[in-house]
Amino acid sequence: MQSSIRESVRNMAGYMPGEQLNTPDIVKLNTNENPYPASPRVLEAIRAALTGDRLRKYPEPTGQTFRRAAGRVLGIDPECILIGNGSDDILTILTRTFVPEGGLLVSPTPSYILYKTLADIQGARFQTVPFTPEWTLPTPWPVSDAHLTFLANPNSPTGTALGEVAVTRLAQEIRGPLVLDEAYGDFAEWNGLGLIGKVPNLIVTRSFSKYYSLAGIRFGFGIADPATVRELIKVKDSYNCNVLTLAAATAAMEDQSYYADVRAKIMATRGRMTATLTELGFEITPSQANFVWCRRTDRPVYPLYEALKQRGILVRYMNYAGFGDGLRISVGTDPEIDRLFTALRAIL
Ligand SMILES: *Cc1c(COP(=O)(O)O)cnc(C)c1O
Repeated sequence: MQSSIRESVRNMAGYMPGEQLNTPDIVKLNTNENPYPASPRVLEAIRAALTGDRLRKYPEPTGQTFRRAAGRVLGIDPECILIGNGSDDILTILTRTFVPEGGLLVSPTPSYILYKTLADIQGARFQTVPFTPEWTLPTPWPVSDAHLTFLANPNSPTGTALGEVAVTRLAQEIRGPLVLDEAYGDFAEWNGLGLIGKVPNLIVTRSFSKYYSLAGIRFGFGIADPATVRELIKVKDSYNCNVLTLAAATAAMEDQSYYADVRAKIMATRGRMTATLTELGFEITPSQANFVWCRRTDRPVYPLYEALKQRGILVRYMNYAGFGDGLRISVGTDPEIDRLFTALRAIL
């Protein structure tokens, strides 16, 4: 059997998701979930979807109800929206649509490591372009012939974000589509939605796993011009989002005021984290997301990751060739972050 497996699959390492320890008293700050619950309306919508015979029947293939709701809330044409089983599903659909076998996928580094996995599965080449020391893009951008370019904005693990001028310039410098991965876009000062229709090769992706507190439900969506979305729909699984997911996502999208309050709490806690972690000797890049990237020059950080884990606090250790390592710490609730501070003070 092994010899029948495509060489590109046999040779790849496979994406390594963050640890999902589900011990009840663990403080989980490693995969950027929202520490607050989803809107109560989400649970109501899921309960309502469980009644009658909605589970017996197939869901809406393109998620028309969600598309109309999101179109209304975001002020965009529903035909511009592509639904996905998490935004990772959207990234997969984009790769399958645009990148031929042997093709080229490009992303800045350090960034989201799934992009390389997507290239590997596709049998495509993956090339990275280092961020500048100020976490901006080099100009001119050195690779213009990519079949697809991924830009996480805000970026993970750094939390840094580029603005309209830099994003527009990059889109103009490349031949293929630019995918603006806005998994954290709802937390940022600026996002690229307003450029859809103006910058012809731009595609934006959004996740419900972070801002909308629904990592377990698996939902994300893409935004592109309607003609492109029609092509992408051909590539996706016919029923890639289930009835419960679509009900939950629609209810969450329609409860913007609830999430604006959650966002304000997260921003306030992120401010406390930035101040206290700096005081404790970490170098923090200014974050526009729901996590902070913490580095140290005076001591290795891997032992800190281990010592925190021993105390029941899980953060993400990341190491990037050419950039060194660091801890990516998600913004938790205030009591969780107080536990983090107490543990760090004891360890350091
Ligand atoms: C979390 C994350 C995603 C994936 O989100 P899902 O909707 O859970 O699939 C995509 N891109 C980046 C940069 C992320 O951090």
